[in-house]
Amino acid sequence: MKRMLIAGNWKMHKTLKEAEELASDIFNWVETNRPKSDVAVCPPFPFLHTISKIIAGTKIYLGAQNCYHEPEGAFTGEVSPPMLVSVGCKFVIIGHSERRTYFSENDQLINAKIQAALRFNLSPIFCIGETLQERQENRTYEIVERQIKIGLNNISIEQIRNIVIAYEPVWAIGTGVSANTEQIDEAHRFIRKLLINTFGPECNDTLILYGGSLNSKNAKEILSLPDVNGGLIGKASLDSKEFTKIIEYAEQSI
Ligand code: PEP
Repeated sequence: MKRMLIAGNWKMHKTLKEAEELASDIFNWVETNRPKSDVAVCPPFPFLHTISKIIAGTKIYLGAQNCYHEPEGAFTGEVSPPMLVSVGCKFVIIGHSERRTYFSENDQLINAKIQAALRFNLSPIFCIGETLQERQENRTYEIVERQIKIGLNNISIEQIRNIVIAYEPVWAIGTGVSANTEQIDEAHRFIRKLLINTFGPECNDTLILYGGSLNSKNAKEILSLPDVNGGLIGKASLDSKEFTKIIEYAEQSI
């Protein structure tokens, strides 16, 4: 059976009250519809603890949007993996293109964060993807391969089971223009093959999510692709109707 994960990245959106309402609406839908797909919400740090209580006991998992690679210490403003675990997180998004672009995160730092997350039993949702210029220069697979090779350096076969990959072409994130199904299918097959060649056949089971303007209009087609195991969703995850519609399409693809 195909495994699916639909994860919402709320980015820097919503007040506490709005975040509680969104989480409650998703909770109610999941309680009523009992999807087979896994669902995750990744609210901003200050809301994690409150939202963990709203979704407790359901199939909705909690994820953070980032973490630091040290467990504790004098790192003002940073948040560590054990802190995230202590407020109920199962997932942490690592290497999102917005972190790479605006906060200068490179492949080496991302690798350190992935290792730190795994050390504390957090599952990284590891984001990779090319920029528009890189795609136009036919360098998509060179970039994705570099991001995977360095990002997953020194990761064991046992650890790879706890990693989720999110293929997110940078040019599709937040633009309203998703990659087309051919581009997504080709990229996901490439990533699957690379993972299998690097780590072994276990990676047939690795969750590879697509991200980049995924919404209720294009989800049916994208989520039905054989190597797409769900989505990392920004804008469309901020509206419970839109988000749960995407979960419905994930259900149809199982
Ligand atoms: C994202 O933030 O990972 C993302 C895919 O955003 P959007 O769905 O808004 O393109």
